[in-house]
Amino acid sequence: MIIFFALILHWYLSLFFQTIFLHRYASHNMFKMTPFVEKVFYFLTFLFQGSSFLHPAAYGVMHKKHHAHTDTPNDPHSPVHIKNIISFNLATVVEYRKLVNDFAEGKRNDSTVPRWEIMEKIAESLITRAAFILIYFLFYYHFSTANWQYIFLPIHIMMGPIHGFIVNWFGHKSGYRNFDSLNDNSKNTLPLDFLMMGELYQNNHHYKPNNINFAVKWYEYDFGFLATQFLKRMRIIY
Ligand SMILES: [Zn+2]
Ligand SMILES: [Zn+2]
Repeated sequence: MIIFFALILHWYLSLFFQTIFLHRYASHNMFKMTPFVEKVFYFLTFLFQGSSFLHPAAYGVMHKKHHAHTDTPNDPHSPVHIKNIISFNLATVVEYRKLVNDFAEGKRNDSTVPRWEIMEKIAESLITRAAFILIYFLFYYHFSTANWQYIFLPIHIMMGPIHGFIVNWFGHKSGYRNFDSLNDNSKNTLPLDFLMMGELYQNNHHYKPNNINFAVKWYEYDFGFLATQFLKRMRIIY
C-alpha cells in the first residue's frame, strides 16, 4: 500500500513540476515568477524528478523547436516521422543530450530559458543520479511488502522521460482532434486527462500554444491550468 501511494505521489509531484515549470513556464513563458521563486521551482523540479531530472533550458529549447516544426522532419520527436518506439526515444535523447552539453560547454546561450549553472552541474552529475536511485531502492527495501512490487522501481528512476514519452508519443498519435485545420498530427489523447494534468490535450495546445488553459470542450479539464490559477491566487506566480 505504501509503495502504491508513493508511486502515485511521485508521479504527480514530478508531473506537476514538468507541466508547470518546464513546459508552461520555461518553454512558453505563460506566466512570471520572481528570481527567488524561480530558484525554488528549479530546486523542487530537481528534487522530484531526481534521478531523471530534465535540464530546464534544454527542455525549453527543444520544446520550442517541437512547436516550430511540429510533425515535420525537423520536429525533435514526432511519431509521424519516427514510427519505431526505440528509434523515437533514441532520437529524442540524442537531441536532448546535445542541448544539455551545449549549455554546459557554453556553446549555447538563451536568455528566454531558466539557467542555474551550479544546480545544472549537481543535477546532471552521475553521483547525484546514482544517489537518487539508491534512495528509491532503499525506500522499496524498507516499505515493499512483496518482491513483485519492485517492478515499479524503474518508473521512479525514469519518471521525467516517461512523462515526456507519453506526451510526445501518444499526444501526436492517438486520440481525437478539436482543431482539424491544424497542419500537424497533434491529438487529444484523453477526454478527461487525469493522467498527465492536461498535457495530453496536445491538439488544443498546438492550436493555441500560448493559451495557459489546454482544455477547450466542456468535458475537458486541465488540472495543470487549475494549479496555475491556485499559484496565482497565492501570489506565487503572476
Ligand atoms: Zn506537441
Ligand atoms: Zn508546448
